[in-house]
Amino acid sequence: MKHTPRKILVTGGGGFLGSHLCERLLDDGHDVICVDNFFTGSRRNILHLMDNPYFELIRHDVTFPLYVEVDEIYNLACPASPIHYQYNPVKTIKTNVHGAINMLGLAKRIRARIFQASTSEVYGDPSVHPQPEGYWGHVNPIGIRSCYDEGKRCAETLFFDYYRQHRLQIKVGRIFNTYGPKMHPDDGRVVSNFIVQALKNEPITIYGDGSQTRSFCYVDDLIEGFVRFMASPDDFTGPVNLGNPNEFTILELARRILDLTGSRSEIVFKDLPADDPRQRQPDIRLARERLGWEPKVPLADGLSRTIAYFEGLLGE
Ligand code: NAD
Ligand code: UDP
Ligand code: UDP
Repeated sequence: MKHTPRKILVTGGGGFLGSHLCERLLDDGHDVICVDNFFTGSRRNILHLMDNPYFELIRHDVTFPLYVEVDEIYNLACPASPIHYQYNPVKTIKTNVHGAINMLGLAKRIRARIFQASTSEVYGDPSVHPQPEGYWGHVNPIGIRSCYDEGKRCAETLFFDYYRQHRLQIKVGRIFNTYGPKMHPDDGRVVSNFIVQALKNEPITIYGDGSQTRSFCYVDDLIEGFVRFMASPDDFTGPVNLGNPNEFTILELARRILDLTGSRSEIVFKDLPADDPRQRQPDIRLARERLGWEPKVPLADGLSRTIAYFEGLLGE
């Protein structure tokens, strides 16, 4: 579908989700400025876009001010995998909080519509299941995941204060576990870890007993949700859950990946990290109602596409 071309800033555009988003926005006929400090992202993810005259890359850290002129901003800059966001937790908070302030200040100056990549982690280890947007969460404020969880919660607060105080057009999306091609092989998240381990016939590392659950969304479905949300009426600010409600235990995920890869890997059990949520499943009634959106790609198909990507990568 073609739209009126707009100039769009994507922070974290060199990362997993950001690079898919840049690609989609260019396909839709827009001008894209990608901003990234390449902490977890990679130029490789966007290499194929570098020759596109409508694509521009700026190496920049969002904790510092940024002066550009655009119509829309997608703020995705932030490491998303626990091993990466815990590597330098203070920096993670700065990215979430100072980064949000800078992007909101930018949006305010140029009157741009701004989307925030928030997260299901704002619900913490949830005591309500599945999680609707009205649930305030169950988050440890001083634990090892807090730099990310509380950083993202503070960013949501900032978005709503800029909305109320400065009448900014905001869109806050709470993203649930998403997977697909272009995840970094050393990213540390469960889907990429298991696929890489299976393809190398190395042990599949389950943390805990594998009975904890997650609901996995294929990346193309999620990006469609982003675009629909950004195009939705001004009065729809969110927060809105964006994720796939099909819930699996981590052990089931491991078994499916073993089946699909035909791997000889054995399953090994390791310690469960602190504050690891027991269960997670989005309630997506609001997204269905307001965006006419729901995920379409079943886990088996999404995993097959992701496995094919990693086979190509590891075969190089
Ligand atoms: P990713 O780590 O692949 O991408 C994040 C990108 O942000 C990377 O390219 C990284 O280099 C860049 N970045 C980090 N700090 C920066 C800084 N200070 N300045 C500029 N760039 C910076 O992760 P992703 O999975 O693509 O996640 C993108 C966004 O979506 C993140 O904000 C994340 O919190 C959110 N999110 C993702 C998921 C998921 O399942 N993938 C779930 C919930 C929320
Ligand atoms: N900012 C930015 N680009 C802009 C405008 C502002 O990066 O085009 C940053 C700037 O660093 C500022 C922050 O956004 O500190 C918040 O801006 P705001 O106008 O809300 O507040 P200020 O701190 O300027 O009073
Ligand atoms: N996990 C696992 N083995 C791994 C990586 C992760 O068992 O090699 C578990 C992790 O403890 C968590 C779930 O898989 O219970 C999802 O982890 P991920 O880091 O992908 O996402 P998040 O915990 O942020 O939802």
